[in-house]
Amino acid sequence: MPQGALIHDGRGGIWRKFRLDNTRAINAAPWLDALAQRHPVGTCRPCGGHLWPGQPYTVGGRQLYPATCSACNREAVAPGPAPKRKRK
Ligand SMILES: [Zn+2]
Repeated sequence: MPQGALIHDGRGGIWRKFRLDNTRAINAAPWLDALAQRHPVGTCRPCGGHLWPGQPYTVGGRQLYPATCSACNREAVAPGPAPKRKRK
């Protein structure tokens, strides 16, 4: 699972304030704030540098939030919330 290896499990990686409660999904509003204000969104676990947010993009109906470490250029991608199922 090469993609899964990039996603941190909540310790380190993307800071908790950028995640939705009770999930590992990214919370769009604070992420976009950080992007606009050029604030870091997390800590790079291998090197301790700051992770900087990138522009979210959509793959298969799900938002993905890329972040790049300023020190080692490692990239991480965290998913947004799962698409809601339509109920009738
Ligand atoms: Zn790093």
